[in-house]
Amino acid sequence: MSDMIRYQRCTPCRHVWYFVRSFCPKCGAREPQALEASGSGVVHAVTIVERAPTPDMKALAPYTLVMVDADEGFRLMAHGTPGLAIGDRVSGSVIELAGRPIPFFKRA
Ligand SMILES: [Zn+2]
Repeated sequence: MSDMIRYQRCTPCRHVWYFVRSFCPKCGAREPQALEASGSGVVHAVTIVERAPTPDMKALAPYTLVMVDADEGFRLMAHGTPGLAIGDRVSGSVIELAGRPIPFFKRA
């Protein structure tokens, strides 16, 4: 099961962001557009998590967290395949991990 990564865009100022909000974090305009991302982006940072912060994530540890700069201009935190490095082109979608929908990236 996988789904597109979604983001939002402000109509007046064109600012884009990842976490769902009811208003633009930059200019405060309401009713942002909800859009589907291509899933393409570049790795900005990588963290290997050895100790899972919650019991349901323990089964997955160690796992790789990445900060990804999406081609659409927003940045998000996601899970990724082991071995990803800063600067890698990646493609991602939302998958189910430990029972929750989580964005996941692999090398493009
Ligand atoms: Zn705005």
